[in-house]
Amino acid sequence: MKNDLLRTAYSSEEFRKRGHQLVDELAAHLAQTISDKPAKVIDWKSPMEEHEFWTDFLENGKADNVFSETLKHSIHVHNPTYIGHQVTAPLPITAVSSMFSALLNNGMAVYEMGMASTAMERIVTDTLCEKIGFAEDSRGFLTSGGTLANLTALLAARKAKVTDDIWTEGHSASLGIIVSEEAHYCADRAARIMGLGEKGIIKIPATNDFKMNTSFLEETLESAKSNGITVFAIIGSAPSTATGMYDDLEAISSFSKKHNLWFHVDGAHGGAAIFSKKYKYTLKGIENADSVVIDGHKMLMMPAITTALLFKDGANSYTTFSQKADYLLGESEGEDWYNLAKRTFECTKTMMSLHWFTLLKTYGEDIFEEYVTSLYNLGRDFAELIQKDTQFELALEPDSNIVCFRFKPHGIKNEHLNKLNIKIRQELLESGEFYVVQTTLRGVFYLRTTLMNPFTTIAHLTALLKVIKRIGGNIAV
Ligand SMILES: *Cc1c(COP(=O)(O)O)cnc(C)c1O
Repeated sequence: MKNDLLRTAYSSEEFRKRGHQLVDELAAHLAQTISDKPAKVIDWKSPMEEHEFWTDFLENGKADNVFSETLKHSIHVHNPTYIGHQVTAPLPITAVSSMFSALLNNGMAVYEMGMASTAMERIVTDTLCEKIGFAEDSRGFLTSGGTLANLTALLAARKAKVTDDIWTEGHSASLGIIVSEEAHYCADRAARIMGLGEKGIIKIPATNDFKMNTSFLEETLESAKSNGITVFAIIGSAPSTATGMYDDLEAISSFSKKHNLWFHVDGAHGGAAIFSKKYKYTLKGIENADSVVIDGHKMLMMPAITTALLFKDGANSYTTFSQKADYLLGESEGEDWYNLAKRTFECTKTMMSLHWFTLLKTYGEDIFEEYVTSLYNLGRDFAELIQKDTQFELALEPDSNIVCFRFKPHGIKNEHLNKLNIKIRQELLESGEFYVVQTTLRGVFYLRTTLMNPFTTIAHLTALLKVIKRIGGNIAV
């Protein structure tokens, strides 16, 4: 190699040195973050300040400090006061598998570009299918995120249920899908990408506790039909994102069976409850789904981004992106499960199966059981704590580890409560004491927490309520 820059950049000694240094740094970060006295969960800066900092750093900073500075300028999901979005605190071993995957860079599109990881993907998705309660002919694959997986599932649904050859001829008929008004926005986005238009996204109102109100299903389908829309799929949220409430999958399943609709379960967050003896009941009916999405980077302790998309009838997983449903038989002797890009949206993807396989081999399924069960338990404990305090209002009894509530001190008028809680949330963010997010439910602003961190205890949550009282008490509305 002539080029000295390239030679230095590929130096194995340099890699060893920086790698060891970084592992030491990250281990220290981890120890500090999950200690009794962690630093701020986020050292919040405005987007402009942050942009200025990194612009200057590119000019004047030291390359050796990129990671240590990034650490200071990032949110720390391992901090027990991180109780915001549905992103997990990844198990440290998955940071090692991430590094391994990055260096080997097996692209996975065809079998020989990832022999081990392709076989692992089959094993991992078969395990998930079995946990769901699917039979032997079920199949799945891993893909880049719940959003992409939901789109892929709906494409498979359309292929399976609509007789027009849309893949070849394009879209002409009016088609639709049924979702709860509480479904994740990516369902709406997927439908629009598929050309269904606004009229093709048929929303079912939610009940008082934010689950799909299945008593509206029959009349809604009738009215869609009379408007000339052919409905081909229905999505159950397991659970929905804002409130963490599970739709009644059994009711949706019977409805879909009766009307020959594709039944898709968006279990991006809580599909992981298949591993929890105690909370599996939330998913009753999932075994009848035609397709299921489960994110590894939410309730299964893996780094972003890895999602399983699982099909009850494995054959359906092969037809999404193909001209003919029977191409498989024409192109290969047996089942072509090992050429993954034929079934996924992606061509190249990361060796994401390595995370799942490493966790199963190192810790077994028990670790998923412990994680999901303890965090769902904590959700219930936190809700109880909120209910006991007369200065707080719980939005609703949680089904999962997502808990929404607001500060409602005595003597403050109802019309001022939204403003008060908006200010509390902003001050919490800027103080870096706790990271919580927000949601507006039927016009009411709530603080929203997702308990993603097994190191968060009821003591942290008690402290949170105290901090909110302190902050809230100083805000004039
Ligand atoms: C998080 C979430 C998604 C989106 O998944 P990504 O992996 O972030 O793309 C979709 N649906 C539900 C119910 C979710 O909770």
